[in-house]
Amino acid sequence: MVNKKDSKNLAFAIVILLIIALILTGVFLAIFFCKQRKEKFNSVTNNKKIFILYTGGTIGMIKSPVGYVPKSGFLEEKLNQLVKIHGKDVIGDYTIKEYSPLLDSSNIGPQDWNLIARDIHEVYNQYDAFIIISGTDTMAYISSALSFIFENLNKTVVITGSMISLQEPRNDGRNNLITSLIIASHYTIPEVILVFDNLIIRGCRATKVNANSVHGFASPNYPPLGVAGIHIEMDWEKIRKPQGPFQLKPFDTRLKIAVIKLFPGIDSTFIDSIIKNNEIHGIVLETFGIGDAPTAKPFLNSLVKAKNKGIELVNVTQCLMGRVDERDYETGVRLLQLGVYNGLDMTLEAAIAKLYYLLTYNKSKQEIKKLISKNLRGELVETMSTLYLQTGMFL
Ligand code: ASP
Repeated sequence: MVNKKDSKNLAFAIVILLIIALILTGVFLAIFFCKQRKEKFNSVTNNKKIFILYTGGTIGMIKSPVGYVPKSGFLEEKLNQLVKIHGKDVIGDYTIKEYSPLLDSSNIGPQDWNLIARDIHEVYNQYDAFIIISGTDTMAYISSALSFIFENLNKTVVITGSMISLQEPRNDGRNNLITSLIIASHYTIPEVILVFDNLIIRGCRATKVNANSVHGFASPNYPPLGVAGIHIEMDWEKIRKPQGPFQLKPFDTRLKIAVIKLFPGIDSTFIDSIIKNNEIHGIVLETFGIGDAPTAKPFLNSLVKAKNKGIELVNVTQCLMGRVDERDYETGVRLLQLGVYNGLDMTLEAAIAKLYYLLTYNKSKQEIKKLISKNLRGELVETMSTLYLQTGMFL
């Protein structure tokens, strides 16, 4: 006969077993779905259909009596030669859209960013991956801009170019092109990435660091997402995943955004003239060190005037590496008190793009304040981490 105490113990044991079974099933399902998700978005698969948007830049330029100039058809001709050598299995099946006129990237601006984004959006379902070929001078600006314009990307968008034209016997264009094509053709990285000199960098973390070397770009505050060495090694854990349906968020190109880089002796009347003469909507302040600025009354008054006019002010450091924390010194605290937002470890390029994005989508002052310091596209790290102790690691 089973007594009352035994049956109680039995019931207790069954409940415990059920709970353990439930937990194990939960863990199993979580691992299973995570794996599936990873495989879907962070995967190496067969060659894909690639849409190449060629905007201009050194890579497709040829020598002329007035220096290097873009030549229509030249890049496509070079690409076709690569297919002949390596075959479509390696470098994918691509279609090229060449813009006219081909531009030096110094002439590319927000309207072009929107145009390129719309062109991708239009054929988004027909292709598996996209490569934008651009000049290097403003490549970090376009890669930052597109990182915000594309919301919840679920396909790879590569940006590349080169420092030496494909016309030269020794050039970096060939390697940058081939690496970009192989990545676009075989990997799914649902982000805007900059592929240059064997580095695979998050688009909104990139900055041009060298005007004369083929190592043109770095991701000073964040490790590269991948490195193309003897093999292509991706850091899949760092790759972002879409959180909802893909959406196009073009910028309002009527917005006026200014950048003010501080320097010792900066005259407040200079800031006043920017605020007074134009209808400015946002200013990125490139401050000293950890986010410091002069505390002289005229300077601070100019910023107060800007705030009173409804201009949004964002603080990023003019140091190549590191992040803003205005709480350390009075010279930073004053900015905080005035309502200058903390841009943390954003690059200048990312801060400009983010301001465009937030202002275009009419976020309220409160929301802008909150979102500026929030990680939206991987453009910043919200809290101080050991990343910052690894000085020089990502250059
Ligand atoms: N001036 C060129 C451009 O940005 C430089 C380059 O492509 O490297 O278009």
